[in-house]
Amino acid sequence: MSDAQPYGPALSSVDPDIARLIDDENRREHETMRLIASENYASRAVMEATGSCLTNKYSEGYARKRYYEGQQVVDQVEELAITRLRRLFGKTAAAGGEDDLHVNVQPYSGSPANLAVYLAFCQPGDVIMGLGLAAGGHLTHGHGVSITGKYFKSVPYGVRKSDHRIDMDEVRALAKEHRPKLLWAGTTAYPRQLDWAAFRSIADEVSAVLVADIAHISGLVAAGVHPSPIGIADVVTSTTHKTLRGPRGGMILSKKAHAAALDKAVFPGLQGGPHNHTTAGLAVAALEASTDAFVAYAKQVVENAKTLGEELVARGFAVTTGGTDNHLLLVDVTPKGIAGKPAAQALDKAGIVGNYNAIPFDPRKPFDPSGIRVGTPAVTSRGMGKEEMRMLAAWIDRVVAAPTDDGVLAKVAAEVKELCNRFPAPGLRV
Ligand SMILES: *Cc1c(COP(=O)(O)O)cnc(C)c1O
Repeated sequence: MSDAQPYGPALSSVDPDIARLIDDENRREHETMRLIASENYASRAVMEATGSCLTNKYSEGYARKRYYEGQQVVDQVEELAITRLRRLFGKTAAAGGEDDLHVNVQPYSGSPANLAVYLAFCQPGDVIMGLGLAAGGHLTHGHGVSITGKYFKSVPYGVRKSDHRIDMDEVRALAKEHRPKLLWAGTTAYPRQLDWAAFRSIADEVSAVLVADIAHISGLVAAGVHPSPIGIADVVTSTTHKTLRGPRGGMILSKKAHAAALDKAVFPGLQGGPHNHTTAGLAVAALEASTDAFVAYAKQVVENAKTLGEELVARGFAVTTGGTDNHLLLVDVTPKGIAGKPAAQALDKAGIVGNYNAIPFDPRKPFDPSGIRVGTPAVTSRGMGKEEMRMLAAWIDRVVAAPTDDGVLAKVAAEVKELCNRFPAPGLRV
């Protein structure tokens, strides 16, 4: 045969250390309940596309307008991803959504997608408004430590003290007083649906650009399980790896009037070459998300979150807003005599992986808050349902009652592992 360079030796022989760590993580992800609301399991098909030769190709620019040669294949990959996403999200719009929908799949992740929106519409010092971090908003919506809070004048809105829901009267009053250039509607730790039309009317009153950041809920929106901002918001940004279950990445969907400004902001404004292997993975995820199986998954995500919330409330936990309409719950664990951080740490030892989280108006400090955030996308991707949510609530209850009892934690971890063995996760090798 030829002397050409071969495919090459396997990772396990080139770098046994990293190979072993990947195996360890594969096992950890298999044997534990993944309750981090932003996480999921990308399918094997998505992972194969992501781990492909497309990572080798440079393609600065956009399809048919590139700065390097050799784009015969990559242009098709990017156009296929865009076509599928336009169809997927276009059908969620009230009317004619797909016709007035522009898609940019190049943002490296959710945060760069959001930065591109600032670059397209704002000058440093402009006023912007978003939900405050402590109320469930995202860093990139103007939080003080983020570049978005340092380079722009951020006016955060919050949730009502009485029911922990976004206070649209407050949003309107603040918008009228401060006249923001951008109005962000999007959340990272908020268990209720967003009223896009109400945000739209406020944005119109003050001539703000309305940006819906659906990073957490894009899978629910695609499946029609959460109302869609497509056709209502001027711009919609999202990650691709949360409920949408694609590879780690970001995207921007917008009205066509904003296409040129947003494309220019992503490249050359903010980024160089797009991550073509990620674009391919996103195209696969968009195809998967257009199936009936995906719609069933999205419905079950919400059902599971509701069941888990009801079971936790029945056991004496306090759930903010009293429940959920989406994929996550914000659980105040202090009625059980424990704070969020030690609860999350004990749960992790028991194979139940979530994160500690502040609850609205939390009397405790951000590094040691009152709550935990739990989400159901990943366990639902494993095929878990109502019965498993009941078991999960019982385990959570047992763990927070004995957070320092290693015997209890080990016992729960073994039971969790047994359940996980019955529900293998997509994309993992067992
Ligand atoms: C996760 C998230 C982001 C950021 O995404 P990264 O990919 O982590 O940069 C942005 N906005 C919201 C609302 C998010 O939940």
